[in-house]
Order: sequence, then C-alpha cells, then structure tokens
Amino acid sequence: MENDKRPISILLLVMPLLIAAPDLFAWGGVTHRYIARKVCERFECQCPKEVELGSTAPDREFKDTVNHHCYDMEWPCDEDASTYSCPVKQGCPALKKSGEWLDKARSQTGCERWRSIAIASHYYSDGEVIWHKVQKETGECHSDFESAVDNKVKGKQKDWSVTVCGETVTKTDIDRIIDGFCALVSSGAPPPAAGKVRVESFVREWWGPGAAAAGVLVVLLLGLRLAFSKKRRRR
Ligand SMILES: [Zn+2]
Repeated sequence: MENDKRPISILLLVMPLLIAAPDLFAWGGVTHRYIARKVCERFECQCPKEVELGSTAPDREFKDTVNHHCYDMEWPCDEDASTYSCPVKQGCPALKKSGEWLDKARSQTGCERWRSIAIASHYYSDGEVIWHKVQKETGECHSDFESAVDNKVKGKQKDWSVTVCGETVTKTDIDRIIDGFCALVSSGAPPPAAGKVRVESFVREWWGPGAAAAGVLVVLLLGLRLAFSKKRRRR
C-alpha cells in the first residue's frame, strides 16, 4: 500500500513550491499611481480616487504576482547579465490581464470604468519593465530599482534618468508607457491574444480539482486492494 501513496505524497510536497511566487513588484506604488493619474488626466477623467486605488490593486488586493510578468524569448535580452537570466519561456499574462480589464471597462460607466482602466494600466506597465521580462532576477536589484524610480517620480523633475544594477530608466520611458497605454484605451481594440499559461497559474487553477481526483483515486485503489485480498482469502 505504501507504494500507491508515494506519488501523491510527492505531489503534495512539491505543490507549495510551485505555487509560491516571489513578492516583488518592479514598479513601486508611487510610479503606478503616477502612470494611472497621467492617463486619467489625458482623458479628463473625474475619478482621481478610484484611479489611484485601482492602479495598485493588483499588488495590494489581488496579489497575483504570477500575472505581472511578460516573457518574450524574441526580446533582445542581455545573455551576459549577472543580475538575471533571459527568459526561457514564452507568455505574457501581464498584457493578457491588461486586455481583460480594458475589455471589462468597455462595458462599465463612470468611476467604476476608470477603476478598471487604472487596474489595466498596472498590468500593462508591469509588462514593460525589465524585471518582469527576465527570470531569476536578483531580488535586491528588483526592489532597489522600484524605490529609485519611485523617488525620481516623487521628485517631479522635468527630465530624469536612474540606473540600478546596470539597468537605466528615464522619464521618457515612463512617458512612452503612458502613451502606449493611452493608445490602447482610445483604440477600443480587443484584448491582446492570450499568451501561454504559465505552469504556476495552471497549478493554482487546477491543484484543487487535481487533489480531489487524486483522493478519489486513492480510495478506489484501496477498495480494489481490499476486494482482491478478500477474494484471495476466501479461496
Ligand atoms: Zn505589479
């Protein structure tokens, strides 16, 4: 009987490791709020509070860090970088999520609509930051980068540039992100095509039903074993 249980025990042991995702954000709260506020200003939206709260909701409320990444193996990645590895998988859940929220916004009105747009801006901008395009990045680089950019955004300088762990971001880069997102909002385009589902999100969605199915299988195996041993004893 011990042998029947082993694969399931291994699966149960490995599962938490697959589900665990690093709690890193890439753009800090200040930067996310700034981007969403600029989008709101450009469309003359009248919902600053909803926009501010929506812009950080994915990090604060949803905490679905697994959906904040954007891996593109065609992206010109620095293979020699010491602070991260180039992506070895394809899939951009960040852009997919952004598209989903923009799609949702299209059926909404008023400030509810602007909250959804702000949420979409979060995923969109996360998909545009180096630390969400690479894998196995150094946690320190990631968080130092966040606070350095946040400080620059807070500083309200006309032009700025900041370099952390060899990665440079300028005010122009942030403006480009805002422009790109605003174009998406006004185009009314359908959400971008879905990238491949990452293994973690697959496990997150299916581990419940999977565990239930495994449970049923164990009961079945136990039942069969019992039935056969009874038969043998009767002989
Ligand atoms: Zn995020």
